[in-house]
Amino acid sequence: MAKHLYLHVPFCQSICYYCDFCHRLYDAATSDKWLGELAEEIKSQNIDKELSTIYIGGGTPTSLSYEQIIRLLSLLKEYTSKLEEYTIEANPENIDEKKIDIFKHFGINRVSLGVEAYQDRLLAMMNRHHNFEDVQKAVSILRLKGIHNISLDLLYSLPSQSLDDFKESLEAVVALDVPHISLYSLTIEEHSVFGQRGYKPLDEDLEADMYEMAVAYLENEGYIQYEIANFAKPGYYSKHNLAYWHYNDFYGLSLGASGKINNIRYDNTRNMQKYLRHEYRENIIELSKKDMMFEETMMSLRTIWGIDLKRFKLRYGEDFKEVYKKPLDRYPDAFISDDKYLRVKNRELLNTLLLAFLD
Ligand code: SF4
Repeated sequence: MAKHLYLHVPFCQSICYYCDFCHRLYDAATSDKWLGELAEEIKSQNIDKELSTIYIGGGTPTSLSYEQIIRLLSLLKEYTSKLEEYTIEANPENIDEKKIDIFKHFGINRVSLGVEAYQDRLLAMMNRHHNFEDVQKAVSILRLKGIHNISLDLLYSLPSQSLDDFKESLEAVVALDVPHISLYSLTIEEHSVFGQRGYKPLDEDLEADMYEMAVAYLENEGYIQYEIANFAKPGYYSKHNLAYWHYNDFYGLSLGASGKINNIRYDNTRNMQKYLRHEYRENIIELSKKDMMFEETMMSLRTIWGIDLKRFKLRYGEDFKEVYKKPLDRYPDAFISDDKYLRVKNRELLNTLLLAFLD
């Protein structure tokens, strides 16, 4: 049994030009059918009633109508009595007081808003349908309604984005004094509109400069970089995302979601027709102990704590430093360790180090 659940809402009110996630344009009829099928999928799973975190992502959960959001949250109600964190993603242009009242009614206590950039020209280039005033308004209504655990996402390495543009975006979100900020570097996916239009990624050196500038700036502003792409004020680490990085089990519900229970990982179909025919699972993968040890290493080393050595021994019956003696000996200066944890000194080198673990 898992203590964490991710639910994917596959609808958006418009499609961003960089996006390759599992999404489709919102329409009332299909989303009604999807909700009906979601109820069936939930019934078919043996979900622990005492979950500790739920994360509703997308897509855009706030693209649903008021009635549909009520239907969606009602489906999860019986699993919420012991929740410590209940997050929903929202877009600034389609969150409003009434939707926030519904969130509050169902116990949602954390909202993650897709900001992406401060400048109207960059937002328009991405086909985002909000401006920074919408973000300011959304944050202020959330606070007025008592939701203070707010996370804002920004993108960097956007076509034509300068270092100053990105600094301006960071300053704008920091000025809102939210407790959590996530930064994602744009990848130009072949199937996205950007990919099809032949947009090229930014120069790698500029991308690295943006990241380094952001890390230094946010740390100076009191944010702790607790994971490679995530920054929080003390006490506001995302409990749900920590479950992924600690390699805990989690349920994945709906189109395009993934889950992991014990040594089984599964990916749900991204095809709506298949989903509506109850053909939920696209891939089911049985993980070997070696796979799981490596995946736990890969995920945990992303965090400031690194590998929890006792947890590793408890889960796999093996000593981390023995299993990975070769890569640890190969890069003796790359890690810091005590009895409890082993972490990477410079997380920017993580990918290179992980290759050695993979060997
Ligand atoms: S980035 Fe988010 S809002 Fe934009 S199309 Fe993708 S899932 Fe939808």
